[in-house]
Amino acid sequence: MKKISRRNFFNTSLSLGAGAMISRAFSFAQTGNPSSLPVILVAHTNETGIKATEAGWDILSSGGSALDAVEKAANIIELDGEGTSVGYGGIPNEHGVVQLDASIMDGKTYSAGSVGCLENIKTPCSVARIVMERTDHVMLVGKDALEFAKKWGFKEEDLLTEKARKRWLEWKENHSDRDDWGPPEHLKDLQPSDEKDIEYTTGTTNVLAVDKNGDVVGITTTSGLSYKIPGRVGDSPIIGAGLYVDNEVGAAAATGRGEDVIKSCSSFYMVMRMKEGRTPQQACEDAMKLIVDKYKKVNPKFFPGETFRAINKQGEVGICNMRGRRAPSMSVMNVSGYRRHQGTIAFPVE
Ligand code: ASP
Repeated sequence: MKKISRRNFFNTSLSLGAGAMISRAFSFAQTGNPSSLPVILVAHTNETGIKATEAGWDILSSGGSALDAVEKAANIIELDGEGTSVGYGGIPNEHGVVQLDASIMDGKTYSAGSVGCLENIKTPCSVARIVMERTDHVMLVGKDALEFAKKWGFKEEDLLTEKARKRWLEWKENHSDRDDWGPPEHLKDLQPSDEKDIEYTTGTTNVLAVDKNGDVVGITTTSGLSYKIPGRVGDSPIIGAGLYVDNEVGAAAATGRGEDVIKSCSSFYMVMRMKEGRTPQQACEDAMKLIVDKYKKVNPKFFPGETFRAINKQGEVGICNMRGRRAPSMSVMNVSGYRRHQGTIAFPVE
């Protein structure tokens, strides 16, 4: 099996040359932009993502709140055991334990809640909602977050699916030659080598919505980086990093290498850019540039793997990938129906 490090996985640039200017290959003109309320945006575009978008839309279109709509949609993705990057079925940490991060922010009440390193609860965003609504705190972590969830009636369950467990064992046996996992030394050479990449999962979900009253709410929920060091908290539960909402402006959220998103307060920055008049699409691109500009002085070839999403109060949306060849897309639904909305690549690979 071929060994690739997460560092190489996330830094998609190494052999691809320097970054170009922001691509306008997928501009608003070509992709269109829904701008009527209510509206919901979901990062996932697979079958579960579409189901989640429709469920959130059902709430919004019948006059329900953005708060209920985003929770409903995010729960559907969290509960899908086939998905390996959010909630139940997420790829575990390096010890084989699934640790979840999630956040929610409500623009109307300027409230936020989050959980970090939460184990054994399938719907971490709902625990985050209770932290937001029923405590005077914003963030609970680890064992105490689990105890808190149990007090509120959440059921403790094993989150490690067979699929995720097998992926973890595969990683454990193959990511290093310098430990004792894998076949006995004297038999290694005799076994046919199974040359394939170790799979690292990304795919946090972001759910952002504006309801008919113009109230804005967002959720970011994830199992975090595959095989992370136990106790690692990513950007997703950190308000301002993986998620930010301002009821006067809109909302923004992130997926990808959370360490960069934390350092650059990406979601807060995107919302502030929109406040200064930038469109959601431009705000996503600005936030990518902010990160790359910092790394320029350290390692100009470094383009970490991130995707940013934003929505404004008018219902316009934006999405941008840091690097790559394929434009990113997300689920969007408003009165015109469901659409797969395509965005831009900040630093396209020629
Ligand atoms: N942003 C997430 C984290 O760093 C990972 C991801 O989006 O895949 O935990």
